[in-house]
Amino acid sequence: MKKLLFLLYTLFASASLQAQEFDQWFCDKTLRVDYIFSGNATQQMVSLDELSLIDGWAGRRVNLDKIPVRGNGEIKIIDPASGKTLYRNSFSSLFQEWLVTGEAKSLNKSFEATFLIPMPRAKADIEITLLDNEGHLQTTMRHTITPDDALIRKRDSKAAPHHEYLMKNGSTKECIDIAIVAEGYTTEEMDIFLRDARTACDELFRYEPFSQYRKRFNVVAVMTESEMSGVSVPQEGEWRSTAINSNFMTFYSPRYLTTNSVHLIHDRLTGIEYEHLIILANTDTYGGGGIYNSYTLTTAHHKQFKPVVVHEFGHSFGALGDEYFYDEPDHTADTYKLDYEPWEQNITTLVDFKSKWADMIKPNTEIPTPPTEKRQKDYTVGVYEGGGYITKGMYRPAVVCRMRDNEATQFCPVCQRAIGRIIEYNTEQE
Ligand SMILES: [Zn+2]
Repeated sequence: MKKLLFLLYTLFASASLQAQEFDQWFCDKTLRVDYIFSGNATQQMVSLDELSLIDGWAGRRVNLDKIPVRGNGEIKIIDPASGKTLYRNSFSSLFQEWLVTGEAKSLNKSFEATFLIPMPRAKADIEITLLDNEGHLQTTMRHTITPDDALIRKRDSKAAPHHEYLMKNGSTKECIDIAIVAEGYTTEEMDIFLRDARTACDELFRYEPFSQYRKRFNVVAVMTESEMSGVSVPQEGEWRSTAINSNFMTFYSPRYLTTNSVHLIHDRLTGIEYEHLIILANTDTYGGGGIYNSYTLTTAHHKQFKPVVVHEFGHSFGALGDEYFYDEPDHTADTYKLDYEPWEQNITTLVDFKSKWADMIKPNTEIPTPPTEKRQKDYTVGVYEGGGYITKGMYRPAVVCRMRDNEATQFCPVCQRAIGRIIEYNTEQE
C-alpha cells in the first residue's frame, strides 16, 4: 500500500511539475503559424505568411521539449535568453512528398502549411526546419515572436462552425482532440456527413491500440458546408467549389486526394479545439491521403472507406509508413534510399534495425522471413521483404497490416506499439 501511495505521489508530482512548466512559459492560448513552403528539388524555402492568436490550447502539456519520431521536419519554440527549447513537434508535408517527383526537377511550386503551437508568455524564437527522408537538412528559418506584436491577428474563437461531439472523454487539455471535418457536403447533406463521421469514429476505435486508449480521446464532427456536393475529380474534368478545395490527381496520381488550401482548413475550424484532422470527402471515388501531423483526407462513400480512413490516420497521427509496394514504379518510387534507415517505425532497410522492431522478433528469425499463410493469420512479427513502395531491400514487420492492404483486419504488432507510444507521449510524462 505504501508503495502504491508513493507511486501515486510520484505520478502526481511529475504531472503537476509539467503543468507548472507549461504555465511558466505559455498562456492557455494557441498561436497559429501559417507558412508557405516553396522551391524545387534542389532548393527549398520557408516563408512566414501570417501569425494569429486563438483562445485555448488543446495540444499536449507533457513532454514539451521532446518529439516522438524524426519526421520530415520540426517546429521549435526557443527561449532566446537561455537557448532552452520550450516546445517541439515533428511533422511531414505534401511539399516534401512533391520534392521527390519528376516535376520538382523542372518547376518551382509553393505549398501551404499551418502549425498550432502554444502561445509563449514572453518574446520567443520559432525555428522551423525541413529534413529530407534521409534526415539531411533541406532548409531552416528562425523568427522572433513578440506577444504584443500588433500584427498577430486575433481570431474570434466564439464564432465556431456547427459541430457535434461524437466522443467526449475529458477536457481538451487532458485529451487528444480529433476533428472530423466535412468536405463536399452541402447544408442539406449534413445528416449524411454526421452518419459518415460516426462510421469513421466507430471504425477507428475498434482498432488496437486506439480501442484500449479510447478514454484519452475526444472526437468532434465539424459541419463545414460546401457550396457544391462532391469534390473535384480532375481526371474526369470535374471541378467543384467545396469547403476546403480538395482534389484527386495530386501529383497526377488519380487516387491521391489532397488539398493545398491548408490555411483555409484552419480558417474554417476557428473556434473548434482540435489537434488532429480527419477530413471526409463526400464522394464514392476511391482515394485518400494522410500526412504526419498535417491531416487525413479520405472519401466517405467508397466501399473501402472504413479500412482506408484508419490507414490514413495511421499516417497522419501514428507517423507510420506505407507497408505496401508495387512492381510498377509510380510517383512514390524515389521516396526512400536503401542506404539510409527511414524514420517511419514500421519499415526498415536494415541499416539501423535496432532502432526498429529488432526487439520484437524471435531469435533466429529468418531474414527475409517467408510470408507463410500461418504467419499472415497470426500477424507474426518478422522481417518480410517489400514495403515503402519498394519490392527489394525494404522490409515490413508482418505479412499483412492495416498499413499494407485493405484485407488486413488490424494494425500489425509493430504499428500498434508505434501508435501506442504516440498516444502515451501526448498524454503522460515520460
Ligand atoms: Zn504494420
